[in-house]
Amino acid sequence: MATAKKPVRKKTTAGKNTLRVSLQTGWTYDPAPESKSVARIDKRYELFINGKWEAPLSKKYFDTINPATEEKLSEVAEAGVADVDKAVTAAGQAYEKTWKKMPARERAKYIFRIARMIQEKARELAVIETLDGGKPIRESRDFDVPTAANHFFYYAGWADKLEYAFPNRKTEPLGVAGQIIPWNFPLLMAAWKIAPALATGNTVVLKPAETTPLTALKLAEIIREADLPPGVVNIITGAGATGASLVQHPGVSKIAFTGSTEIGKLIQQSTAGTSKKLTLELGGKAANIIFEDAPLDQAVEGVINGIFFNQGHVCCAGSRLYVQESVAKEVIRKLKDRMASLIVGDPLDKNTDIGAINSRQQLDTIRKYISIGKKEGAEFYESDCRLPGKGFFCKPTLFSQVAQSSRIAQEEIFGPVLAILTFRTDDEVIEKANNTPYGLSAGVWTDKGSKIFNMTKRIRAGVIWANTFNKFDPSSPFGGFKESGYGREGGLHGLLPYVKLIS
Ligand code: NAP
Ligand code: MG
Repeated sequence: MATAKKPVRKKTTAGKNTLRVSLQTGWTYDPAPESKSVARIDKRYELFINGKWEAPLSKKYFDTINPATEEKLSEVAEAGVADVDKAVTAAGQAYEKTWKKMPARERAKYIFRIARMIQEKARELAVIETLDGGKPIRESRDFDVPTAANHFFYYAGWADKLEYAFPNRKTEPLGVAGQIIPWNFPLLMAAWKIAPALATGNTVVLKPAETTPLTALKLAEIIREADLPPGVVNIITGAGATGASLVQHPGVSKIAFTGSTEIGKLIQQSTAGTSKKLTLELGGKAANIIFEDAPLDQAVEGVINGIFFNQGHVCCAGSRLYVQESVAKEVIRKLKDRMASLIVGDPLDKNTDIGAINSRQQLDTIRKYISIGKKEGAEFYESDCRLPGKGFFCKPTLFSQVAQSSRIAQEEIFGPVLAILTFRTDDEVIEKANNTPYGLSAGVWTDKGSKIFNMTKRIRAGVIWANTFNKFDPSSPFGGFKESGYGREGGLHGLLPYVKLIS
């Protein structure tokens, strides 16, 4: 509850002395932590292969920690080459014997069941997502988990209607889909991958990221409880080498990868010359563009959401802000004011706006880019908040006076760091916005519809939001241009990468 009193420091479960105070108003917020008691996390997780929990043939395990406290949450099996082979073989047999032959309406029932069970376990999934990955509970509760359930609902609906998705064409599934996902939206990315694959009749081997395996393993529990035929979905944990063996396995017909452009390129090389179908959802450096006629307070809120949502661990984060010169001063002042009121700290606290950075390694990367920005001569500003004593945290940061050629305007930082540039004309901002190797998303803030149409036509990005940012819906396709990858996930378009069109 907000009470008007002098700024004070309060202890939170994430660490000592988090300053939970709005510097603008002087209000403090009492801690409102979500209870951990709802989350059942086992001490150890095996591999989910052929409907069973199997100890890894590699005999290896690794720890997953809570990045907000650096405490170990669980240990998780590391799938070696033989384990990957076992999972792909199970998926191949399930495809041939069961899933491919099952009437589509029956497949749909399983997918609907998974969606409903995600909803039933939403609270537990949200808490585990926050514990394992560091994102604020508000996001995992209000965005990640419900959107994951919605993806299963949406694709369940398509399963027996593929003839309407591809009119006058016949489709066939591809076989075993190998799916590799990153750590920024662990459950949601699993849903984006698994739901369309199952709806189109494929079976799956999914590898979550090393730092955030727990919600995918919880999803395995759900899949088991939903009585999905054994082997239709297999979830194998591990690090990069596990992903690489999955990509190279000859029994896999399709690879769906979400992650960095660097690894995407390696995967592209390793699948070249094979018949494997490939979709790549890679990095981004989105331009968020504010014109002088935009509703500025709304735009500032959109920019804040665009870059600080999920600690900036978002491929489509609005990490470059282009402001029309005439309103630049005002926008920067408003941004700084708003940044001062953001609460950074315990991700389980319902008041928290910015949670923990996912790993020490990612925090080091962000710090490296902050020092690059300073060296490049941009004007540095960070919010005046106090960070918890333990865990991986980063203050919301902005750089103004950034040059188009500077590394912080060109390279993906994947953290809460905003680069601000200015422009005078439409043509200038279009040229600047398009001048990166990426093309995943962008945002346009203006009062004029004609300007929106001009921008959306000429900016080379897969998703362009107008007078809003970071909005997702299962029925809307998502994907990139240029080095942000190819193929689309979500919507009708998201079915195509999982089917052969045979007539
Ligand atoms: P990453 O290092 O590329 O890892 C992504 C996944 O690939 C992880 O599961 C990773 O395993 C695995 N992997 C690592 N090396 C591999 C290899 N040689 N072969 C096969 N798989 C391998 O990316 P990240 O750092 O986790 O995620 C951040 C990146 O993802 C950012 O660039 C972001 O923009 C991008 N992203 C894009 C989208 C999109 O839709 N376009 C969405 C979300 C994120 P380990 O984690 O265990 O190493
Ligand atoms: Mg973790």
